[in-house]
Amino acid sequence: LFRIINIIFTQIFCMLKKYDYLIVGAGFYGAVSAYELNKKGYKCLVIEKRNHIGGNCYTETVDGINVHKYGAHIFHTNDREIWEYVNQLVEFNRYTNSPVAINNGKLYNLPFNMNTFYQIWGVRTPKEAVDKIAEQTEKYKDVNPQNLEEQALKLVGDDIYNILIKEYTEKQWGMKATELPAFIIKRLPIRFTFDNNYFNDTYQGVPIGGYTKIFEKLLEETEVLLKTDFFANREYFEALADKIIYTGPIDKFFNYEAGKLNYRSLRFENESLDIENFQGNAVVNYTSHEETFTRIIEHKHFEFGTQKNTIITKEYPQDWNENLEPYYPVNDSVNNKIYREYKKKADASEKVIFGGRLAEYKYYDMHQIIGSALSKMKKILNNEKEKL
Ligand code: FAD
Ligand code: UDP
Repeated sequence: LFRIINIIFTQIFCMLKKYDYLIVGAGFYGAVSAYELNKKGYKCLVIEKRNHIGGNCYTETVDGINVHKYGAHIFHTNDREIWEYVNQLVEFNRYTNSPVAINNGKLYNLPFNMNTFYQIWGVRTPKEAVDKIAEQTEKYKDVNPQNLEEQALKLVGDDIYNILIKEYTEKQWGMKATELPAFIIKRLPIRFTFDNNYFNDTYQGVPIGGYTKIFEKLLEETEVLLKTDFFANREYFEALADKIIYTGPIDKFFNYEAGKLNYRSLRFENESLDIENFQGNAVVNYTSHEETFTRIIEHKHFEFGTQKNTIITKEYPQDWNENLEPYYPVNDSVNNKIYREYKKKADASEKVIFGGRLAEYKYYDMHQIIGSALSKMKKILNNEKEKL
């Protein structure tokens, strides 16, 4: 009797199995994967627990302004192929990110460049600035940086660290800068030119009309189920396809067997204002403890908006718990160790491909996620070809 029940169950499961790939998550990793697989004739189902596609890059049009619902997103890359890839999907504008920082009522340009050095020290030439930084970093020159504070002091010295880095970082991560990994701060360029471009990359911009348009294009030929959580009906979804591409938190996938990973979360406070221009820039960072938010975003400036009104968002970092969105992986040594356990399990899985910021537990930008999804799909498609 057991055998018969087993056969019936297997048959029902096989009938249900009508997709080649089940893709969990409609962010960049999931959507690019779906697009590439669909082009080659594979049938995919994308499930997304939120009520919209786009993951954290999602934008929503409010009063004609494209609001970056999960924080400011600026596309930047050095990789021409990736730039061309996104540009064949939608048109990008020439937006260049040049955030301004406010500390105790004073304004500073970011990233650290000649404008910043002039604002802090009054130095006017690159030589004066180089000398000033050498003087500031002299006492740290033999330090082998083990944490973010040591790394920052070695790179830029006390003044810049105290005005622009320490308190912003501690608000952002809810940890002492001495407890954070050094690599986080290496993302910020230091320049001896009067150039306020936050990124060093060759290509940069924001999609005209918002990011959601990219996802609509990527997913236009694919079946998508919104408000659908993989874990609400896991066995059913696992039986739907031969392969799964999973872009959610990796620890949850493995039932937290190796422990819980930590994330950093955010709270966004939106305000619609009846004025044309609130802060004159898309991104203004607040680098002191005086304010509990880290930045204010004024969305219209990403697209040079000329509306009569404006929408701003204050970004408050917060501790993460299971009821909140896991925005940033916390890549310290404790969490990285836990992640490595999950990575071993993930590598051993034949059926499931783990990709993206949450499944790979890495601080990836959009272009890196797209690059990683594209190369994974290429590999999969080549393997499939070999099998034929
Ligand atoms: P996500 O976009 O997080 O997509 C994963 C999706 O999976 C989500 O939609 C989620 O709801 C869904 N999901 C999770 N679990 C389940 C489940 N159980 N069932 C169904 N669905 C599920 N990058 C840049 O290049 N430039 C920037 O300026 C930039 N700014 C950023 C600012 C902030 C505040 C943040 C948080 C990130 C920023 N990024 C930026 C990074 C960028 O958001 C990521 O690189 C990108 O969104 C990662 O794509 P992803 O597909 O890996 O993950
Ligand atoms: N950072 C800082 N001061 C700033 C902006 C950034 O000290 O005004 C540090 C901070 O530690 C932050 C890191 O640089 O976590 C990376 O900042 P970025 O703006 O690149 O990160 P995002 O939050 O946009 O991913």
